Amino acid sequence: MVAMWTFALARLAGILLLGLCLGLLIGPIWLWILAAACLYLGWQLVTLYRLDRWLRLRSQIDPPDFGGIWGDIVAQVIRLHRRKQFHKQRLIQLFRELRRSTAALPDGVIILSAQREIVWFNRQAARLLGLKRPVDVGLRIDNLIRSPEFVLYLHGDDFAMPLVIRPPVQLDLYLALQVVPYGGGQYLLLVRDVTRQMRLEAMRKDFVANASHELRTPLTVISGYLDTLADDSSIDPAWSGPIKDMRAQAQRMNAIIADLLVLSRLESTDGEAPRDAVNVPSMLERLHRDALASADRPRHVVLELETTDGLCGAAHELESAFTNLLVNGMKYTQAEGTVRMRWWADAEGAYFSVIDSGIGIPPEHIPRLTERFYRVDAGRSRGQGGSGLGLAIVKHALQRHGGWLDVQSAEGKGSTFTCHFPQARIWQQTVDTAVSA
Ligand code: ADP
Repeated sequence: MVAMWTFALARLAGILLLGLCLGLLIGPIWLWILAAACLYLGWQLVTLYRLDRWLRLRSQIDPPDFGGIWGDIVAQVIRLHRRKQFHKQRLIQLFRELRRSTAALPDGVIILSAQREIVWFNRQAARLLGLKRPVDVGLRIDNLIRSPEFVLYLHGDDFAMPLVIRPPVQLDLYLALQVVPYGGGQYLLLVRDVTRQMRLEAMRKDFVANASHELRTPLTVISGYLDTLADDSSIDPAWSGPIKDMRAQAQRMNAIIADLLVLSRLESTDGEAPRDAVNVPSMLERLHRDALASADRPRHVVLELETTDGLCGAAHELESAFTNLLVNGMKYTQAEGTVRMRWWADAEGAYFSVIDSGIGIPPEHIPRLTERFYRVDAGRSRGQGGSGLGLAIVKHALQRHGGWLDVQSAEGKGSTFTCHFPQARIWQQTVDTAVSA
């Protein structure tokens, strides 16, 4: 590059020198130097004009063949242009691949703008949601899917779990919609057909409910006969032990079937629990009295009512949840231990805790406690008549009230199970309000 510039300067100096020589020979000097400079300038202008013309009509004419510094500039422009073309082609190819692969995806994909307007969607999304190109591009997605749960989900900020809806165009389908935020305020909406899973789930629930119903009648008959046999003094005393065992097992089966029926009833009723006024303090007082009357209880069973507030919900579901927690507290606490029930409220919501000084739960089991039939110590649970379904019932009942269960425990020291209810579910009692507990 330095050589090229040296050559360009030498050429300029040579032209000026030629002007000087002609001036010395023919005179006047300044006129000949000016003429040489004008000649050089004119030549540069012509080159510049040819370069400009080529840059404008690059696709139609061949590059001019300049030597020296101008030739180098032309070569650099050509190189830059080729590089740009190469990257452009690569981007176009990548974009095509991306479009082809998203079009082939078995799931629907919709790109939404920050205002939740449709920017682009693939073929599967069009099929599942009945979207049409180009009319629906630019429309807000919540104008097309008007389900209230979806509108709430879309404008919320919790996209960890997908939302299952029935699409407006094909009511026999179940679609799982999941929003994935990305980039600067844009969103991907993933649409998956979960009809098969939902049908299987419904079949499973129906099967459990039907099987439990069918088992209940024969079991009632067997229990009845066992009760009669137990009271019959003419039976050989050698049979009294086996009959006692059979009665205990029949009772356990009854308890499991009763819990399965409660659970399937909770699962089959979609959506939120009703909002009946429930007088929680008086319900807890009743549960406390029943607990004190139970023969098989720890020495101290205490009730601490710190608010007169109740809840808007389903009384039988709440009672079932509270009873399960209380019964567990009593079951897993030694005779000399304490079980405390506590009911209180604050600005964020209302809470019910069962705090026991019992055997506690090792930390690795805590996340799985609400699974059906999950037990820390299966033998101990069975020995105490546990069905393994109690905490699953609690979880479902709380979910239907917009609440959740928190478990804190230390092995050998005791456990605290706390039901959290949102502020919106609190029912403030007035003196003359009718109570239903
Ligand atoms: P179960 O009928 O077996 O009590 P649950 O669903 O009510 O079934 O509870 C699941 C398991 O959680 C129990 O088997 C027990 O191991 C453990 N658990 C529940 N409550 C307590 C508690 N208060 N203290 C210790 N362990 C508990």
